[in-house]
This record gives sequence, C-alpha cells and structure tokens, in this order.
Amino acid sequence: MKKDFRYYVIFYLFGLWLMVNIFTPAMAGDKLRVVTSTADLASIAAAVGGDQVEVFAIAKGYQDPHFVDAKPSYMIKLQKADLFIQVGLDLEIGWVPLLLDGARNSNILPGGNGFLDASVGVPLLQVPTGDPATLRAQGDIHAAGNPHFWLDPRRGKQVADNIYRALSRLQPEHEARFKANCDDFKRRIDQKTAEWQQRMQPYRGTRIVAFHNSWPYFEEFTGLNIVDFVEPKPGIPPTPKHLVRVIGHMQEQDVRIIIISPYYSKKSSELIASKTGAQLVELATSVEAYPEIRSYFDLFDYNVGKMLEAFATAGIQPTNPSE
Ligand SMILES: [Zn+2]
Repeated sequence: MKKDFRYYVIFYLFGLWLMVNIFTPAMAGDKLRVVTSTADLASIAAAVGGDQVEVFAIAKGYQDPHFVDAKPSYMIKLQKADLFIQVGLDLEIGWVPLLLDGARNSNILPGGNGFLDASVGVPLLQVPTGDPATLRAQGDIHAAGNPHFWLDPRRGKQVADNIYRALSRLQPEHEARFKANCDDFKRRIDQKTAEWQQRMQPYRGTRIVAFHNSWPYFEEFTGLNIVDFVEPKPGIPPTPKHLVRVIGHMQEQDVRIIIISPYYSKKSSELIASKTGAQLVELATSVEAYPEIRSYFDLFDYNVGKMLEAFATAGIQPTNPSE
C-alpha cells in the first residue's frame, strides 16, 4: 500500500515536471513575432493577434514614415520575425527593402508566408494614371497612389482582415482566436466611427490646407475639404512662387486652417499663416505620435478633438448646424 502511494507521488511529480518542462516552454515559444513598419500597423496587429503575438514597430509615431533610418538593430528584429507587415504603395520604399535585404530571413520577403502588404484590398485614392517610374524620377513620393490610407479607420478594418488572414496562415490552430479578435476590433471601429463622424458632421465641407498630402482618406472620412498643399507635390519642398499661389487660394476661399505634422519644418506654413491669418494645427499621422495616443482608436480621438478645438479657436461656424 505504502509502495503504491510512493509510485503515485513519483508519477504525479513526473507529470508536473512534464507540464513545466515541455508544455510551458512550448506555449511561450508559440507566440508569433510580428514586426511592422509603422506603429499603426502594430496597434492593429496587437488587437488581432492578442496574447498570441509579440509586436514591434520600426518607425516611431513621431517620425515621417516616408523617411526612416535603416538601422542594423531593426535588421536583427526582422531576422527573428515570423511576420513582417508593411503599409505598401511606396511608403517605405526608401528603407524597408534595405532592412529586408539585411535581415536574411527569406520567410518575410515579398511572396513569403511571413510577408504582408497591408494595402491589399484597401480602396485607394489618388492612384496616378501616369507611369510610376517617371513620377518617382520627378521626386513624387506618392507615385503608386496615396499610401496614407490608415488615416481612415474604416480602411483599418480591411487591414485587420489582412492581418487576421496572415496570422491564421502561420498558426492555423489559433484561427478562431484571431477571427474573434478581428471581429471585436471591427465592431469597436464601427461604434467609434459613428461617434467620430457625428462629431465632425457639423463641419463637413470646411475648407482647409495641409502641408503634405497625408490626409485624403481622413478627408473622405470626415467630409473636410482640403483645397491645397504647402508642398507643390508630395515630397517636393515649396518654392516661393508656390507659396504665393497657396496664399492666394486661401484668401479667395477664406481658408483658416493649415494642417501640419510634428516632423515637418514649420517655416513655410508659418509664413503662409502670417500672410493669411490662418491657424497651424498639428495632427498626429500615427499611433504614438504623442504619448497620449497609445492605440489606433486614440489616434482618431486625438485628431477629431484637435480639429474641433481648431474650428472653435479659428471662429469657424458649423456648415451644417442643424444636423
Ligand atoms: Zn506621403
């Protein structure tokens, strides 16, 4: 009897040892390492992947995503990654190919199981009819179409779907979890979209100017009307002649707001503001642009709040006060 008991204890301890040594490391090692080019993609990937992913974003939210240093430390992150996600449409053309080249991880190269271009299936705006190569040669950094689509949360739902499919491809055993997380993310976006659009509704059609052409998707989402840009073409610095033209447009159309981003020089925008009396409004182009923007949802809370604040200080009246 005593002997039997000892066997039970040994068997039980062996079982525990098995659990600790085999199952626990397997569960921890089961997590997918996801590297994204931007913080917005990281936020969506974290929402869809949940506990099953570890996410790292290369570009910080306060950086211009067109121009990021291809640091060796990023290559090391990519070397160990199970999935790499980029925005696409040339946004990262100056730095992601260099990083992927240095990472020596064939799984995450375009065409590989661990590569995802988030723009797949996203309805695009401003796709040029001309030859992209010619446009690129002219310095246009939006030669493949406007890449700033994450600034419309409805398009963020398509990105979530793309990420759900990529994660399920890598770990089919967790497909149901990824699907549930993705559905939950999209449901929350729908709820918040109704709120954001309702808050912006009274100002539909309000004319504004932006420094860089980052905002056509936000414009479509909010109903604002962007009439001109401080940059004559995306990525091309303004000439004095162009600034005179912008000032003229703004005076003709009573434009009182210029949207800028934290990483652009304020000089030209300030000059225009001094001539027109317009206000500079610094919006966030990405998650973590400012400490309070911790998630993809915070990004729109912040930008909608900033716009409403700016309308009030610039004395802009609602265009649709009754709605
Ligand atoms: Zn751009």
